[in-house]
Amino acid sequence: MAADPVSVLQKLWGFPDFRGVQRQVVDRVLAGQSTLAVMPTGAGKSLTYQLPATMLDGTAIVVSPLIALMHDQLRAAEAVGIRAATLTSVDENKAETRGRFLDGELDLLYIAPERASTADFRDLLERGRVALFAIDEAHCVSEWGHDFRPDYRLLRPLLDRYPDVPRLALTATADAHTRADILDQLGIPEDGMIVAGFDRPNIRYAISPKDNTTRQIADLIRDTPGAGIVYVQSRAGTERMADSLRTATGRPVRAYHAGLDPEVRRRNQADFVASEDMVICATVAFGMGIDKPDVRFVAHAGLPKSIEAYYQETGRAGRDGDPAVAHLFWGAEDFARARQRIGEVEPARQPGERQRLNALGALAETAGCRRRILLAHFGEHPPQSCGNCDNCLSPPDAIDATETARKYLSA
Ligand code: ADP
Ligand code: MG
Repeated sequence: MAADPVSVLQKLWGFPDFRGVQRQVVDRVLAGQSTLAVMPTGAGKSLTYQLPATMLDGTAIVVSPLIALMHDQLRAAEAVGIRAATLTSVDENKAETRGRFLDGELDLLYIAPERASTADFRDLLERGRVALFAIDEAHCVSEWGHDFRPDYRLLRPLLDRYPDVPRLALTATADAHTRADILDQLGIPEDGMIVAGFDRPNIRYAISPKDNTTRQIADLIRDTPGAGIVYVQSRAGTERMADSLRTATGRPVRAYHAGLDPEVRRRNQADFVASEDMVICATVAFGMGIDKPDVRFVAHAGLPKSIEAYYQETGRAGRDGDPAVAHLFWGAEDFARARQRIGEVEPARQPGERQRLNALGALAETAGCRRRILLAHFGEHPPQSCGNCDNCLSPPDAIDATETARKYLSA
C-alpha cells in the first residue's frame, strides 16, 4: 500500500485536502481499526470509506438504508472512477455484480441491511475478499435513535464472522445515548469514536411562536434573497403553502412531496437545485441526498420530529459557508399533537420519545442562546452566547419565556 491518502484524494476527487476529521477517520480505517464517525451532514462521510476502499485489498461492503440513496452514491462513486455496485432487490445485474466481487473487481459493494442476514450473501462473502464493513446511517441500529430499523440488528452476526475486518459506522445524528448504543450494538471499542464539530456558525437560528404562519414565512422570504426550503408537515399542506407564498411574495415557489407525480417531483427538485431564488415547500422527504450549497434559508412551518431532525433539516442551509437563516415556527397545537402521537407508539419507546419532545420544547422555549442548546445536545460545550441567533441578537423578556415554557412543557 504505497500510495498516500492525500494523493489518492487529489487524484480521484480533485479535492486539495481532507476536511475536518476525515483524515483521522481514514487513517484509522487504513490501520484496520473499527471506528464510529459522528460527523454532521455535508461533512463528507462517504469519502471516509470510499477512499480506503480504493486503497485496501478486497471490497468494502457498504450498508445503507435506502435503495434510492444507494443509487445516488453509486453514481457519485463511479463518477470519480471507483469500481462500485449495488446488490439490491431492484438490481437486474445481480449475477454480474457477484462475479465482479468474486473476481476482486469491486472497491465498493452497497447492500441493504436485510441482505446481510441471508445465507446467500454470507456464502458470497466467504468466497470473496472483504476489506471493510461501512455502516452508513448507523443510528438506525439503535432503538434509542430517532430512526430505528430492526434490520440493522441483523448485521452483527455477519460482522462477527470477520473479526479482523474493520467496521466503520457513520452517522450525523446521534446524541450521547445513541452513540453508546451504536458502539455496543456494532462491537466498536469506546476509544474508536471520532466526533466532528457540529457548529454551523453561518446559520442564524430563530424560533418563534406561530401567529399567522403563512404571513410569517412570506415575511421571511421577502427579507431573505436566495433559494429556500419551507418544511410543512402534510402533503396537502405543502401545496397550499406553495400557492399562498407564490401569491404573497411573487417568488417562484414549488411544492414537493412523495405523493406528487414522479415526473413533477423530479422536475421540481432539479429546478430548485439549479435556481438561485426558488422556494420549495416540502415534506421532510425532501433534502436527503440533495447537494445544493447555496440554500439561503430553511423555514419550519411546525415542529420537527426531534432536535436531531431539526439539526439535519436546518443543516441544508448555507452549506457554502455564506450567511443563512433557519427559522422555526411552532404552536401549542404542535406539542399537543406530538404528545398524542407518543401515546400511540409502543410503550417501551415512549420515555425516549417523550424525552426527545421535551428537548425540542426546551430549544423552542429558551430565552438563552439557541445554538448553545443545540450543540449541548450533541455533547459540545459552546460559549454562553453565540451572537448569531434570535435570542442573542435581541434578548427576549425572560419572565415571559419562562411562563410559556411552563405552560407547554409540564402537561
Ligand atoms: P455526508 O454523508 O457527511 O452528509 P457527503 O459524503 O455526501 O456528506 O459529502 C458532502 C459533500 O462534500 C460532497 O459533495 C462531497 O463531494 C464533498 N466533500 C467531501 N469531502 C471533501 C473534501 N475533502 N473537500 C471538498 N469537498 C468534499
Ligand atoms: Mg452520507
